[in-house]
Amino acid sequence: MSTSVAFDIVVIGAGPAGQKAAVQGAKAGKRVALIERERGIGGSCVYRGTIPSKTLRESALHLDRLKRAGEAFQFSLKPDTQIATLLSRLEDVVQAHDSFMSRQIRRNGISLFHGRARFLSEHTIEMQTVDGVQQQFTADTIVVATGSRPRNPEAIPVDHEHILDSDSLLSMMYLPRSLAVVGGGVIGCEYASIFALLGVEVTLIDRAPYPLQFMDRELVEQFIKGFEQQGAHYLGGQHIEKVRWNEVAHVVTKLSDGTTINTEKMLVALGRQANVEDLNLSAAGIMVSDKGVIPVNQYCQTNVPHIYAVGDMVGAPALASKAMEHGRRAVRHALNLPIGDAASTIPLGIYTIPEMASIGLDEMAARERYRDPLIGRARFEEIARAQISGAGHGLLKMVADPAGERLLGIQVVGDSATELVHLGQLALQNGTTIESFIDNVFNFPTYAEAYRIAALDILGQVAKCRTAKAA
Ligand SMILES: Cc1cc2nc3c(=O)[nH]c(=O)nc-3n(C[C@H](O)[C@H](O)[C@H](O)COP(=O)(O)OP(=O)(O)OC[C@H]3O[C@@H](n4cnc5c(N)ncnc54)[C@H](O)[C@@H]3O)c2cc1C
Repeated sequence: MSTSVAFDIVVIGAGPAGQKAAVQGAKAGKRVALIERERGIGGSCVYRGTIPSKTLRESALHLDRLKRAGEAFQFSLKPDTQIATLLSRLEDVVQAHDSFMSRQIRRNGISLFHGRARFLSEHTIEMQTVDGVQQQFTADTIVVATGSRPRNPEAIPVDHEHILDSDSLLSMMYLPRSLAVVGGGVIGCEYASIFALLGVEVTLIDRAPYPLQFMDRELVEQFIKGFEQQGAHYLGGQHIEKVRWNEVAHVVTKLSDGTTINTEKMLVALGRQANVEDLNLSAAGIMVSDKGVIPVNQYCQTNVPHIYAVGDMVGAPALASKAMEHGRRAVRHALNLPIGDAASTIPLGIYTIPEMASIGLDEMAARERYRDPLIGRARFEEIARAQISGAGHGLLKMVADPAGERLLGIQVVGDSATELVHLGQLALQNGTTIESFIDNVFNFPTYAEAYRIAALDILGQVAKCRTAKAA
């Protein structure tokens, strides 16, 4: 029988959500235990998700810039390029991240334990280490941050060698010649566009006529245009009938319209599922929804008030940025500290090529709410910064109320979209008027100029409307 150690807060899972929860608790002077089953800390964000995919993306963009830099280079990738070559910076990035996080945990006096945690009761957690040692912890507040894993349907035989998911994709030895990507969500579209830029023959397959159904349609059309210019294909409105590895060289995919596709590899990207099974949640009376996620309120409280669930395990959107905010928010709520309302304005960043970002209402949502919102557009072709970097196409859409006074949302596709959106985020949060984008002077040449152009577009429409009414 192991004795139990008492803490103020126990956090299960050291991904972005758990880390931020732990740091927040420690900064408030609480005794915090952080339990992580893996050797490294950082979660799927660091080892299988955000950081590896963005490192590969950076390599793809870098190679593309080299290719476009001039014919003099005659640059092309070797046919048997190893994935490891493209991820050469990954180890450095992960190590830098890991040592930063470890320092942060030590500096804040957080007790870090490595083992698999499960509930024994509402206030007691049991942890088992890889050596089989058991340890119990009790706490006033418990934060569950165990993240998610790929959802692989039974009908597709993921073998992690020919048919891969996002956890195993980057363990491929070589860049494949062809890749079928099943699933037009964020992860599917990101990887599809990265591999397409690397010269892989990519076919992206989804049930819906368009990928990224939750994004502004105009942005998605721009994305598809860029994607198809790379020689890749989007096959919409398709159901997968059967997938099999033919034991020789191809993954054979049969589609509902009778088409058969042969590719060297397949990526299955059909969403994520919360890691709830190992936690023995029933011992603490924690409810799980029929979608397999833990329902929480705006403070990330579960149905058991002193137990919080944060990050991917409470459902979409699966974003590291949201996970961190959840961790912070949950612990501040538990400790009665002021929280702020940042969670209502979390931006969405999609690292496709070209990248996309969104905050607030998009055109369709604004039409539902305001009937006739005004939409200002700035095309990147009009922006000197985009012309200089040869960034090609891009679009910033500014959504305003029907009077053209109040900002409702920003959507961007194109180079630096995921950075550019933050200016809109601050403006939304501070109730900035459309006119103030014109009153301010922006650096030249910058992408931020797009805000001014879009605002001018809106004010132009307001002026036209006034003139028409006066006539
Ligand atoms: C390919 C890909 C690309 C992505 N790109 C982006 C991006 O560009 N931007 C972005 O914001 N987000 C991105 N994400 C999403 C992001 O990685 C996740 O939203 C984020 O990691 C979720 O954080 P989390 O803390 O909730 O969970 P996780 O990061 O999954 O961490 C959960 C931790 O809990 C541990 N754990 C699980 N069960 C137990 C247990 N019983 N006991 C102890 N420990 C346990 C796990 O080992 C893990 O370390 C991407 C994801 C993928 C897969």
